[in-house]
Amino acid sequence: MPFPASTVLGYPRIGPHRELKRALEAYWDGRAGRADLDRVGADLRARTWHTLAGRGLSGLPSNTFSEYDQVLDTAVLLGAVPERFRKEKDPYFAMARGTAETPPLRMTKWFDTNYHYIVPELPPAFRLDATKPLRELREARALGYDTRPVFVGPVTFLLLADDPDLSRLPEVLDEYAKLLGILAAERVEWVQFDEPAFVTDAVTEAHVAAAYDRLAAVAERPSLFVATYFGDPGATLPALAATGVEAIGLDLVRGPVPSVPLTGKTVVAGVVSGRDVWRTDRGAALAALYAVRDLGASVAVGTSCSLTHVPYDLDLEPDLDAALRARLAFADQKVTEVVDLAAAFAGGEAAGEVPAPVVDRVSAPPARRGPYAARRAAQAGLGLPPLPTTTIGSFPQTGDLRSLRARLASGELSDAEYRRHIEAEIERVIRLQERLGLDVLVHGEPERNDMVQYFAEHLDGFAVTRHGWVQSYGSRCTRPPILHGDVRRPEPITVRWTSHARSLTDRPVKGMLTGPVTIVAWSFVRADLPLRAVVHQVAGAIREEVADLAATGVSIIQVDEPALRELLPLRRSAQAEYLSWAVDAYRRATSSAPDGVQIHTHLCYSDANEILSAIDGLDADVTTIESARSHGRILGSLTDGFSRGLGPGVYDIHSPRVPSVEEVSSSLAAVLKTLPADRVWVNPDCGLKTRTYDQVEAALANLVTAAHRARA
Ligand code: GLN
Ligand code: ZN
Repeated sequence: MPFPASTVLGYPRIGPHRELKRALEAYWDGRAGRADLDRVGADLRARTWHTLAGRGLSGLPSNTFSEYDQVLDTAVLLGAVPERFRKEKDPYFAMARGTAETPPLRMTKWFDTNYHYIVPELPPAFRLDATKPLRELREARALGYDTRPVFVGPVTFLLLADDPDLSRLPEVLDEYAKLLGILAAERVEWVQFDEPAFVTDAVTEAHVAAAYDRLAAVAERPSLFVATYFGDPGATLPALAATGVEAIGLDLVRGPVPSVPLTGKTVVAGVVSGRDVWRTDRGAALAALYAVRDLGASVAVGTSCSLTHVPYDLDLEPDLDAALRARLAFADQKVTEVVDLAAAFAGGEAAGEVPAPVVDRVSAPPARRGPYAARRAAQAGLGLPPLPTTTIGSFPQTGDLRSLRARLASGELSDAEYRRHIEAEIERVIRLQERLGLDVLVHGEPERNDMVQYFAEHLDGFAVTRHGWVQSYGSRCTRPPILHGDVRRPEPITVRWTSHARSLTDRPVKGMLTGPVTIVAWSFVRADLPLRAVVHQVAGAIREEVADLAATGVSIIQVDEPALRELLPLRRSAQAEYLSWAVDAYRRATSSAPDGVQIHTHLCYSDANEILSAIDGLDADVTTIESARSHGRILGSLTDGFSRGLGPGVYDIHSPRVPSVEEVSSSLAAVLKTLPADRVWVNPDCGLKTRTYDQVEAALANLVTAAHRARA
């Protein structure tokens, strides 16, 4: 059975109107039962198959739906359910979200995307449970569709686990081999194993051979389609081609057409990007398809990766500018592109020119502030006590605030009325912080829906969508802005709110900005410029905002870079170059501040350890960093290199639990054991926007008490 001519590696699952999000949250809150959740899931799956088939796609995937996460689904498939969750009523959601007694499994980013997966814990023994894929397979059959079940592949699964251990590959392969037998008994023709780890340095040719020689040798099995994506598989490609797998997926958006002979194989050529929102260049895509055919392969047309990283449907965005719309394609439009390309390829339509590689036209002057000692002296006038207390920026985003923004958008509130409400909220946050006795105040970010979208809405060159939701984890979605043109700041963005906050108090108020790397990481960006050039443009706009804040007399400005780690290239050989230009962009954005203005930055990844020297390179006067949640893992490393202010978070804001004075004191004591007291700041792990005022007041009161005790 040849591979179908056109396919997608996966499709969004949260629902075009976030139906799954609502159903999950209703189920978790006890407002709906299991049957309601099942019904919504079944409807979404049916809708997906109808859409894909209706648009003419010939190869339909199944098992791409998930109630939370596909890596968690794979853990369940393989019996990797830790003992402590087995007694729970619903072990699946207990692993994902935790229960009152048991914290959830860890969560981290899926390769270099903004999607987060649940990190599996490897069990003492694996045990296959194919209930979910079989259910979806049969459900599709009942609707008249023969599908290709999709799974995270064995090598990638093991590498994503908590303690990656490839020595367990043979055990895991036994389960995958059983799975193949079960699928064969169901008369499944093709199965897809996703192996994005093949584009990282962690996978060797030997791993590839061990995994796929073994699976190809299974006597009764469907044909095997192994999908590599998110980059160039390099040496793993010839290794994979040497095994008996029938089809190989290549991400031809992020990786080159290889020069490896692929005679006898099918290549599912990922020429339609699953990572951006741009229309595919048809001529260039055809050229790539013919080039792959010239390697001796049979060619099927596909997406570069799953479409789960892009929004559903451009037709839901009537207010986007027509010229921009004409350049865009969301998941449904990309399905149609795949189908059209497959037809054009089959019809031998002439290929177009392959566009020349984009030229980097950044000529940013090196940007430096004075040496730290001089800055420290210039900042002495701030008059801060030892162990100064502060927060990371946001205060609770209440329902009232969300409804204010909705009423402004619908025209029910005038700009002036909206402004008065926000100013009143800022006043409440300032008074609260004064009452609590915090040393460096914030305005609380009540005007921001999101730390990136807010800036995108105020910069030229960005568009925002109405329904462009993309799953971030579980039921959480983000609506990434679309950066489509040259970035300019038509007028100051944050100055009025910061100035209002400052007018209310004698204490220092931090200006609060999002850094250039984070703005770009959490947006869809143009493809006609190198990423570095795009980040530098955004840095230019933030630089102007920093200068304006400083000119109004703001003495502390925080520029957050929580996504610095996220854009780190998957191959180690490319990482240093990225970190160097990312750090340069940050320094350019912040160096418009005179030496007397204290620059803070904030990062919140437990894996910050990998990029510590780059964080140091940002040269911020004060770095606040998530620490409580990663159990202080970061602390040991912070001592080397860093010689400036540091605020490792003293409590985890992700939990509704209020930490006691003793708990905060003991975190602080751990910090003071590693760092000299004159450099330490006392702050929570991250912004407070997801918490309630009750929780925030109690927690910050304890934080201030703990800081005062430590000073004494
Ligand atoms: N200043 C932002 C806030 O407090 C930082 C958020 C973040 O680190 N993700 O919400
Ligand atoms: Zn944070």
